[in-house]
Amino acid sequence: MGRKKASHRYTSEAMKTKYFDWRKQVLERDDFKCQQPGCYCNGRSKVEAHHIRTWAKSKRDRFDVNNGIALCKRAHKAITGKEELFEQLYDLIVIMNKSSKTNTKSRT
Ligand SMILES: [Zn+2]
Repeated sequence: MGRKKASHRYTSEAMKTKYFDWRKQVLERDDFKCQQPGCYCNGRSKVEAHHIRTWAKSKRDRFDVNNGIALCKRAHKAITGKEELFEQLYDLIVIMNKSSKTNTKSRT
């Protein structure tokens, strides 16, 4: 019994690490700013990492940086239950953020 518990804990710890890593990469790419267009917060609120394709839906890209976007608490709450409606929009924002990052970073 004890053994089983321990291994289960290990899995969730590994999962946690993976999640925190994913979250960090998402927030860094989005400059820790809320990406919801026209959001009241104006990019000044504390942000959370939102799964563009929900956790349940995305088995493969759960920890794919491209499947995450930084949203403030209020924006995150506002789209909960409507995630699918925002998938395309967020995908686009992610692509734009990614390309602007590579542009500023590219030096030869
Ligand atoms: Zn916001």
